[in-house]
Amino acid sequence: MHRIIVVGGGLIGAATARHLARRGEDVALIAPEEPTDRRTHSGVFASHYDEGRITRILDPDPVWGLTAARSIARYGDIEADSGIAFFTPAGFLNFAPADGERLPLVDAVGTANAARFDRLDIDGLRTRFPYLAFPDGTAGLHEHGTAGYVSPRKLAAAQTEAARRGGATLVRAPATRVTAVGDGVEVETAQGVIRGERVLVATGGFTNAWGLTPTPLDLKVFGRTVVLVRVEGDTLAEIRDMPSLVGAGAYLLPPIRYPDGHTYVKIGIGTDQDVRLETADDLDRWFKSTGSAENREEFLGIITDLIPCLRGVDAIHTDTCVTSYSPHGLPMIDWIDGSQRIAVAVAGNGKGAKSSDDWGYAGALLVSGADWDHPVDRSRLSVAFR
Ligand SMILES: Cc1cc2nc3c(=O)[nH]c(=O)nc-3n(C[C@H](O)[C@H](O)[C@H](O)COP(=O)(O)OP(=O)(O)OC[C@H]3O[C@@H](n4cnc5c(N)ncnc54)[C@H](O)[C@@H]3O)c2cc1C
Repeated sequence: MHRIIVVGGGLIGAATARHLARRGEDVALIAPEEPTDRRTHSGVFASHYDEGRITRILDPDPVWGLTAARSIARYGDIEADSGIAFFTPAGFLNFAPADGERLPLVDAVGTANAARFDRLDIDGLRTRFPYLAFPDGTAGLHEHGTAGYVSPRKLAAAQTEAARRGGATLVRAPATRVTAVGDGVEVETAQGVIRGERVLVATGGFTNAWGLTPTPLDLKVFGRTVVLVRVEGDTLAEIRDMPSLVGAGAYLLPPIRYPDGHTYVKIGIGTDQDVRLETADDLDRWFKSTGSAENREEFLGIITDLIPCLRGVDAIHTDTCVTSYSPHGLPMIDWIDGSQRIAVAVAGNGKGAKSSDDWGYAGALLVSGADWDHPVDRSRLSVAFR
């Protein structure tokens, strides 16, 4: 019987387990491994099977900027505690119309959180990033040192390994049922029933589809498509110093080497028009698909307009992933039963990677019953049900 069980070894769940282990809690982390072959896999997938997630303090939302800053400040500790490196400080550029509403909001959040960034007008942008084609009237904020990208795959691995080194028990199988029983909880897995006093469910987009909470959560799960353009030779040399980018309605990751040995630039956009995924079958089909053909064409147009040297590159492929949204735009980190035995930490709202360590910290405070030593008021992370 463990004191705490965490179900889901993704970016938020594995971070929660690490923080619990650091606090000396007896914790079991139920964390199925990434499938070796997506097409034949039967089971759960995750939103961290990739090599690039933008990380940055610069964000228009003060809570996301603050939790990112707190997480980024701990990246070094997580790398040291696990022996796994996951952060590349390639920098981050947010560009937008100079007279628009976005940049002043982002600027204020960066300043409040002591981010190191430069304010660039159109001439400054064109001088610093000669390989990017900005429309006239654009301005930008360029964060360096604290920004760039994380490998989400390696971040999840690092949090899991640090939790394990801290004493957490790892169970490498998906959970099929989570129930409150007597004065504790039971989690059914293919490796048997795991018993604990309390459980925190951090299973991202799979939470409702796999029925892992007694009542379905008010969680919108979208299928997202990303486009990866392979770069090499002179093209790679030209854009090698590219930062992570948000602008032109899209987000872009700089050249990153993938496990297949090739280097790719990635582009994605998330909108409410993307496909909604409700059932386990929906999720399974989506992760096994190549995503939206329409998105592929649209995103290719945007990336080649912005990075003209990519025109003519024909080694292009798509990948699929899911994002989960709460009604209030922040993760739901809350008890879901009156007896305070089952809690959740879900809903990255499309930008949960960069702040995931701090959401895990909040999850650990909640489920361990510790004082709420977190700058975001608990009421802002409340759970909502269908
Ligand atoms: C295409 C794309 C691009 C993104 N880009 C960015 C970005 O640039 N910057 C950023 O900050 N964020 C980004 N995000 C968002 C970020 O990846 C997510 O917010 C983050 O992964 C959410 O973390 P999570 O722990 O809630 O979910 P996940 O990381 O998906 O983890 C959920 C975990 O639960 C496990 N699980 C599921 N079902 C079960 C079960 N039945 N039993 C046990 N375990 C289970 C899974 O194996 C997984 O490990 C992006 C997301 C997508 C899809």
